[in-house]
Amino acid sequence: MLTDNAEDQQTHDWFGDLQRLDDWMDQVIDTLQQGIAAGQSPFAAGIFHPDGRCVVTAHNTVRRRNQISRHGEVNALDEACRLTGRLDLSGLILVSTGEPCPMCAATAAMAKVDGIVYGASCSDILDAGYKMLELPCEEFFRHANRSPKIRGLVRRERCRELLMQNRKDAS
Ligand SMILES: [Zn+2]
Repeated sequence: MLTDNAEDQQTHDWFGDLQRLDDWMDQVIDTLQQGIAAGQSPFAAGIFHPDGRCVVTAHNTVRRRNQISRHGEVNALDEACRLTGRLDLSGLILVSTGEPCPMCAATAAMAKVDGIVYGASCSDILDAGYKMLELPCEEFFRHANRSPKIRGLVRRERCRELLMQNRKDAS
């Protein structure tokens, strides 16, 4: 039996807590900026508990490793699995500075995350010259046997600005 306090934490309405969503995105944006400083593409992601705690954040490392799959979301999901010793991340939330591509959405689905929060949209990412597979995250999940809660466009202006300042064709 959960205590009242534990129950509050379990059922915390993170989806409607816009301050919490902004706080999470700000943490992930910090990691994105570390990635830019390290010469990586302007994308990052994190895994969070609904009660606010951060499990991990990670930026994109495609350029550093010359590995096409090392998107920020995949790095964060992989690292969260390693840190928790679990392949099932149900109960946790994926927060990404950009709308997850189909590869990242599929990885999030495999990990069974409860929610996905993103900043810049698929069209913002394309505007900055990054060629992604054009399947919106919500559309992907309409065809998947998982239905995480999805909240887009959190801190969108800041995430879009960082993309445009670090355009693909500028590097
Ligand atoms: Zn991706």
